[in-house]
Amino acid sequence: MTVRIDEEKIFKLIEERRPKGIVVNAPGGLIRQTRGIVEKVERKYEIPCFLVGDSCYGICDTVDDEVEKLDADLALHIGHNAVVQDIGRFTHLIDAVDDVKFDSVIDKSVPLLRRYPKLGLATFSQHLHELEPAKKRYESAGFEVHLGRENNLLFQSQTFGCDFSTIYPMSKEVDALCYLGESEFHAVGVALATGKPTFLLDPYLEEVRDMKEEAEIRRKRSILSVYKALDANVFGVITGLKEGQKMLPRTRWITKRLEMQGRRVVQLAMRDVTPDRLAPYRDIQAFVQTACPRISIDGFNFDRPVLSIPEADALVRLMEGREIGEYLERPKWIELTVGLVNRTSR
Ligand code: SF4
Repeated sequence: MTVRIDEEKIFKLIEERRPKGIVVNAPGGLIRQTRGIVEKVERKYEIPCFLVGDSCYGICDTVDDEVEKLDADLALHIGHNAVVQDIGRFTHLIDAVDDVKFDSVIDKSVPLLRRYPKLGLATFSQHLHELEPAKKRYESAGFEVHLGRENNLLFQSQTFGCDFSTIYPMSKEVDALCYLGESEFHAVGVALATGKPTFLLDPYLEEVRDMKEEAEIRRKRSILSVYKALDANVFGVITGLKEGQKMLPRTRWITKRLEMQGRRVVQLAMRDVTPDRLAPYRDIQAFVQTACPRISIDGFNFDRPVLSIPEADALVRLMEGREIGEYLERPKWIELTVGLVNRTSR
């Protein structure tokens, strides 16, 4: 893998701002390259530069709080390229781009995809620049190809693990989606959120993988969790303490709806929602967490239901005597359905 981190931007920021200290964080897959940059910055500018060792899964993992704790005044968040460039008081997003090419895996996918004449393309941050070449390649093989529309956070056809808003409308017009990149995590999310046949195009293994089975496993487990939670009388409602995961209005809404249904709610707050952290709360029969939906949807190790926002929506629907519906099929998994939000605000 050849991932290039935008060093030029880092140097420019440092020269413009002349910080007294810098805090850096990056997802696990980019730590090796990020360490190299941190060392380079320290040598070149003789400024203390802290690499944060806590988990970093998404653009929600910014580190403004750490900047203050470490007496610094600049934060660099590596690898979650987005339309926005700054977040919070101190954090600047630094792009990382993967040089790998998709030509070969695209050619391999063509016979398999023949029965889907209209294709939609999606990808994550590191492969955004490969969308246009991939589009052209599929078009020259005779497909009609659609890209998702850029919005105020994501570039065209870009997805995060909880945000599919660029491709969701476009997915209604295509027969199947192709996800450029090696991330099954992202491709499964796309399959679940759109309900469309979704194929992962892994440029490293040169493999094309249908996400149907993986998506179905998660969908069924999710439905089971929602129905199990329906029997619970005591709920833990968890607010995430990571900077981009504090969703207090959603926590309040869910708490209110559960209490209206006669359930007791214990309010919890934590940075990482794991089976170990939940173990001491034995009296709680089910949890709802508003931190990161993937903790619930991909979390195979919990011994009690731990519902995400869309699953909490589904639970409330059932409690109110309505149909459960295809609750995972929505543009964003961090937002409650519009109708339900409006009901609370009255
Ligand atoms: S909330 Fe979860 S899925 Fe969404 S960006 Fe953060 S880590 Fe990724």
